[in-house]
Amino acid sequence: MPHLTIDSLSASYATVPVLHDVSLSVEQSEVVSIIGPSGSGKSTLLRTLVGIAQPTNGTVTLGGLQLDYRSPASLRTARDSMAIVFQQYNLFQNMTVLGNVTIAPLKIKKWPKKDVEETAKVLLDKVGLGHKLDAYPDELSGGQQQRVAIARALALKPKLLLLDEVTSALDPELVGEVLDTIRGLAIDGMTMLIVSHEMGFVRDVSSRIVMMDAGRIVEVGPPEQIFQNPQLDRTREFTSRIL
Ligand code: ADP
Ligand code: MG
Repeated sequence: MPHLTIDSLSASYATVPVLHDVSLSVEQSEVVSIIGPSGSGKSTLLRTLVGIAQPTNGTVTLGGLQLDYRSPASLRTARDSMAIVFQQYNLFQNMTVLGNVTIAPLKIKKWPKKDVEETAKVLLDKVGLGHKLDAYPDELSGGQQQRVAIARALALKPKLLLLDEVTSALDPELVGEVLDTIRGLAIDGMTMLIVSHEMGFVRDVSSRIVMMDAGRIVEVGPPEQIFQNPQLDRTREFTSRIL
């Protein structure tokens, strides 16, 4: 049974349809990347999965449980199971690194402080910031702040991590450290759905790549197919333009 199954999912903003009939499954510990031109619906797909955008049709099944996005309980399950990290990391400026990573587990989940802090320290070590626990966001580079944002997402123990262009706002010299962090998570077996324009990274880290265009999935395949032998001219044009 796949970890996540998206079946014929459509979504709209108000009355404007944006996602059309998207079907995709993601296995446990799989890394699936989504590529495609701006406006093709990549962010909307991730936003729909966590209930920020409204599905109009189709189903999402996570760990065998079908999510009903109209039910508050089901929405909570979706948000508990899937954490999303955006291009803009939006850390709390008045809190330390450790504070940023522990606030939601402490205040929203009400998990025990000792466990939360232990987990946060392990995660911050993993993203290479074990020495910055007491630093404030404005003392960190953009790459470091984004790595804190990733640790913050993981602190909620999601089953699936969704990353939406997490390096797009970074200065070029800071992109590599964030991509290395994500590679580390992949090696650890974190299930991830990644939207990225970093084609070299996408090719290395993904088990499968999804090409979207105009709100639809137009091609899915392993990196070798997408980069060396795409079935569609559209995919070839996209990857060759961006490489
Ligand atoms: P991508 O992430 O691939 O660039 P998006 O999912 O952001 O694409 O956008 C898909 C389409 O939905 C685009 O046509 C975009 O203009 C539209 N769209 C995105 N966000 C909103 C919104 N909040 N309200 C209305 N339309 C939106
Ligand atoms: Mg986007």
